[in-house]
Amino acid sequence: MAFPYMSVIRRLPDLLVNQIAAGEVVERPASVLKEVLENALDAGSRSIDVQLEQGGVRRVRVADDGCGIARDDLPLALERHATSKIASLDDLERVATMGFRGEALAAIAGVARLSITSRADGAGHAWRIDAGSHPAEGSLAPAALNQGTVVDVADLYFNTPARRKFLKSEATEYAHCDEVFRRVALARPELAFQLSHNGRVSLRLVAGDARRRIGSLMGDDFLAHARVLEVDAGPLRLTGYAALPAYSRASRDAQYFFVNGRYVRDKLLTHAVREAYADILHGSRHPAYVLFLELDPAGVDVNVHPAKIEVRFRDARAVHQFVFHALTRSLAESGAGQVQPAPAAASWERPPA
Ligand code: ADP
Ligand code: MG
Repeated sequence: MAFPYMSVIRRLPDLLVNQIAAGEVVERPASVLKEVLENALDAGSRSIDVQLEQGGVRRVRVADDGCGIARDDLPLALERHATSKIASLDDLERVATMGFRGEALAAIAGVARLSITSRADGAGHAWRIDAGSHPAEGSLAPAALNQGTVVDVADLYFNTPARRKFLKSEATEYAHCDEVFRRVALARPELAFQLSHNGRVSLRLVAGDARRRIGSLMGDDFLAHARVLEVDAGPLRLTGYAALPAYSRASRDAQYFFVNGRYVRDKLLTHAVREAYADILHGSRHPAYVLFLELDPAGVDVNVHPAKIEVRFRDARAVHQFVFHALTRSLAESGAGQVQPAPAAASWERPPA
């Protein structure tokens, strides 16, 4: 048997490399939104406006009022492994920004029509770059913009029809975008956000404190049934809200865990929470919570997953113990901590909104 594909080794062209990278980073419109939103956060924005069309497939447009990108840096922003956020291994080990891999915009440019309009602090006017089919070969032109950056991503997968087939309905893709937006907005209550879909504003969030933001996104009912957490133990800090069993859910749709401001899905943390609820929550029910764990960035590796949704703790055992005990104690304080027989199913349901 012959192996015709194994005879020649080639270097892949940049565009193809970016399209392969996009497979990990750009799974669907919501992943574009996540990357572009995180860039807006890293830019020190105070106010972020998101406009989606057709579930984000037709367009994801994010406008921020952050530091902007200088004209000469615009082509670099589109290049793979080009980042303003880290410069050394040391930086990587204590990274405090959401991004650092320098690959998101390059990957997005490989699978969609990407343009960036930006006005750097102190620049006389804005510049716009349209990413061409070759990274960093985009065309630069003067543009009008008062402040910050507008990233416009249109026609996702227009040049990769095989990937397009994996997209779901507009409603489903929009729901994923909405979820990404909520995660970011929960983590950063001090910023103003707006989300529009097909020209209609669906969420408008004013800058405020965590309680107000959580009320806007989780509902006042959640707040009314939740314990406030604020627990410190040396280098570890856990804050947020954890709902009592009366506000438990039939699915995991109200579970938000953030590590140093980053939304994560982590088995260790989920397990610690689950254990803390074990004696007070019926097995078929799911707790509702918005929790923020803070620790020294050196104690957590965020570079274990391309989209950074998973993390690895240096001292996993200590983190698990801390979260479990902090939560168990907070839930018990209210009197909810006593073991109770599982009530009839109906009384576990959240009243319809
Ligand atoms: P990373 O975020 O990992 O650095 P990206 O590909 O997402 O990589 O972005 C590349 C670079 O472009 C960033 O490091 C940053 O310097 C710049 N950039 C991207 N978006 C913005 C923005 N909204 N405001 C300011 N700079 C930005
Ligand atoms: Mg980024």
